[in-house]
Amino acid sequence: MTLTDLKPATVQRATGDSLLTPADLPPAGHFIDGSFVTSEAADTTEVVDPSTERVITQVANGTADDVDRAVTAARAAQPAWGALLPKARSELLHRVADRIAEHAEVLVRLESANTGKPLSVAQDDVDGTVDTFRFMAGALRATTSMAAGEYAEDHLSLILREPLGVVGVVTPWNYPLLMAAWKIAPILAAGNTLVIKPSEQTPLSTLKLAELLADIVPAGVLNVVTGLGPVVGAGLTAHPEVDMVALTGSVNSGRAVARGAAESLKRVHLELGGKAPVVVFADANLKATAEALRVAGFYNSGQECGAACRVLVEESVADEFVALFTAQVQQIVVGQPGAGDDVEVGPLVSRAHYDRVTGFLSRAAEAGVRATVGGAALEGTGYFIAPTVLVDVPEGAECARDEIFGPVVTVETFSTEDEAIRRANDTPLGLSASVWTESGRRGHDVVRRLDAGTVWVNAHLVLANEVPWGGFKGSGYGRDLSLYALDDYSRTKHVMHNHARS
Ligand code: NAD
Repeated sequence: MTLTDLKPATVQRATGDSLLTPADLPPAGHFIDGSFVTSEAADTTEVVDPSTERVITQVANGTADDVDRAVTAARAAQPAWGALLPKARSELLHRVADRIAEHAEVLVRLESANTGKPLSVAQDDVDGTVDTFRFMAGALRATTSMAAGEYAEDHLSLILREPLGVVGVVTPWNYPLLMAAWKIAPILAAGNTLVIKPSEQTPLSTLKLAELLADIVPAGVLNVVTGLGPVVGAGLTAHPEVDMVALTGSVNSGRAVARGAAESLKRVHLELGGKAPVVVFADANLKATAEALRVAGFYNSGQECGAACRVLVEESVADEFVALFTAQVQQIVVGQPGAGDDVEVGPLVSRAHYDRVTGFLSRAAEAGVRATVGGAALEGTGYFIAPTVLVDVPEGAECARDEIFGPVVTVETFSTEDEAIRRANDTPLGLSASVWTESGRRGHDVVRRLDAGTVWVNAHLVLANEVPWGGFKGSGYGRDLSLYALDDYSRTKHVMHNHARS
């Protein structure tokens, strides 16, 4: 069987009304100093519904002047925001969480319409957003600096934790609202103010968030400038009044931000790409593994930096595993948001990304890689690609090496534990990984040897606000979520008092 022999699945289409009415859309323009303002920009970007290819609206391509206005507002607002007692900032962030929860329904529809993701996935995103704000609202009250102590004679040392100042935030299109929340909540919790640039492809939920919070968050504390990475993102990176840039995005954008930030030596917080290895040993519960990887490999159409996209399975059970996994993936219902509760996978986010993923599939087919399910785009309107499992993948093949970021999981085989670990680590990325085995000892040992910021045992893609998320190696540095994120968005100051009496 070759890629072209496979009969593609079909797209389940929605029959009802459009997901959005004009009243659901946020106001046009940037959100600066507490209100929506028109851009200095003459040009705009079309915001497209990827499941229908229809244009939803246009947003401004912000300019350097827009960035400057927003940074000026954030800078002016920071001293008062940073001086609030933890209790006051915490109460305010709880109100933010409440407001988001009250408007969950419209946020879910906006996110689904703009990204094409199933409503259930968008609901998870909104639930996660609320929980991120609640966690940070609580955590900020529980954080203290290191204990005071005497480390030089007659001198008392105190360590103060301070905000950094103004943080520039740049977010991607795969989880627009959730990634914004992962930045906004700890940045504000730590006493900073911020300017956020959402992805030009998916700005709607971030703008809606600003609209919903306008009467809660003081003017200037949270600012949104829409536009393109090389202008607005780079503008924030270069701006002398921005103290840190936090980016979630691709490795290339991470490099651009790190280079841009080098000039002013501002701090950089990078959450970049992933290509998670999934090591399945012969003693694993193969049925449970196949079921779990159906979710972890294809959630959000595989447009997920932690996706379980690269399986390494022990040779002796490879055929059995591939049969079980293929059977799981064949059951996935692909469809438009609103086409039914059974829709598990939506389209890719854009024509450009669809072309990129189909390019990977074509080159894999040309290289002799075989699809046991999927392997091609789906017919009709929208950027749909069939959930795909690729086998007969030779070591070092492009599809198993580069981040595809689509509904494609590759399966390679290994024969020894050392080989599995060597190949799992043989990637410039190191965001996440998983190991599947019924042996507790082996699981624990292999975890230590896998070079990734998160390693699951008999699980994949399970996250919680209490624990950190972030990569090693080319996946960047800095941690989202948990108390570690609060640390990243704070600075420590040592204060020493001489209390000698003579
Ligand atoms: P992208 O890098 O193309 O865009 C991300 C953001 O960076 C966008 O807002 C974009 O406008 C901006 N940008 C682009 N060039 C820039 C520049 N020169 N300076 C400043 N900003 C710039 O990424 P994407 O395609 O939106 O998202 C997918 C990528 O994000 C994948 O690689 C994925 O793995 C990664 N991602 C990582 C995590 C994580 O937690 N590690 C989470 C989600 C997504």
